Amino acid sequence: MIGNKMQAVYYDQFGQTPIVKLVEVPVIGPGSVLLRVRSTGICRSDWHGWMGHDKDIALPHVPGHEFSGTIEEIGDDVRGWTIGQRVTAPFIQACGKCHYCLMDEQQVCEEQEQAGFTYWGSFAEYLEVKNAQSNLIELPEAMSYDVAAVMGCRFGTAYRAVIDQARMKEGEYLLIIGCGGVGLSAMMIARAVGVRVAAVDVNPQALQVAATFGAEILFERLDSKTITEITEWSGRGVHVCLDAIGRPELLDGGLRTLKRRGSFVQVGLLPDVAGVPSLSMERLVGHELEIRGSHGIQGWKYQEMLDFVVRYEVPVGTMITHITDLKNSIPTLIEMGQNRHFGVTIIHP
Ligand SMILES: [Zn+2]
Ligand SMILES: [Zn+2]
Repeated sequence: MIGNKMQAVYYDQFGQTPIVKLVEVPVIGPGSVLLRVRSTGICRSDWHGWMGHDKDIALPHVPGHEFSGTIEEIGDDVRGWTIGQRVTAPFIQACGKCHYCLMDEQQVCEEQEQAGFTYWGSFAEYLEVKNAQSNLIELPEAMSYDVAAVMGCRFGTAYRAVIDQARMKEGEYLLIIGCGGVGLSAMMIARAVGVRVAAVDVNPQALQVAATFGAEILFERLDSKTITEITEWSGRGVHVCLDAIGRPELLDGGLRTLKRRGSFVQVGLLPDVAGVPSLSMERLVGHELEIRGSHGIQGWKYQEMLDFVVRYEVPVGTMITHITDLKNSIPTLIEMGQNRHFGVTIIHP
């Protein structure tokens, strides 16, 4: 911080190369805390936002939604937290008061805030964390800032998708499409509970990484030949296909890899502007297939997720392949749409 200014990754037009700019440090509201950002991850959703696919983003904008850091300042209505505490928060900062929050379904909160979407995000030295009372999570002593940052979006999202939405059990089969941060997280979580995993990614380097995370069979595309191979490998088809990328053409192919009564779980964002998928309803009805969305994770689920990571010794940190700074994060953000990167890139602002 210089005076009340800070460095941030900033853009004022969608699809135009962002710059690192000196901007005002956020002035926080009564329900917020100000975070000194220590670590923040670059996610494909940041790329969607930069491309103009997210209707929540108002220009100019600072992206970034998975983060961790230390509390720098505390709003008047926030109780029980102290300056300097090491914290994180889920990327959905739920209001804590609406119909869904009161039912413990904060991941679909009606009044949710999302740093890096509904307001300026964490690709900056400082971040306002809104609805802090309902969303702040203290980091266990042994957890690094980098691992905590990845939990906020990609690992947390994958945890909810595999454990709560897909309800996967030991001995079942899972096909993961896309071996970026969400895909690799889903792989680690599934392997931890004894699920057998196949993976698809257009990037051979990403598939190599997937193999080290326990994916048994690997494919560069999903076509009739590979669908047959996946069906043979799993006996009758997989129990669950998880799309961690989000492309319209993947839904129908994914449904064809499922065994009867199987589930397709959509995790990767698929904005309407990218195209609306078509599918065989005949197959959906005849095979009693299920299609579910999965959106982030509730703050109160963190403790269970952290316990899971400890109990199964899930090597979350091993998917972090690159660490960079604000300036050098810009090319990575731009290339997120091209599947050229594998693993997770973290920024230390
Ligand atoms: Zn994300
Ligand atoms: Zn709510």
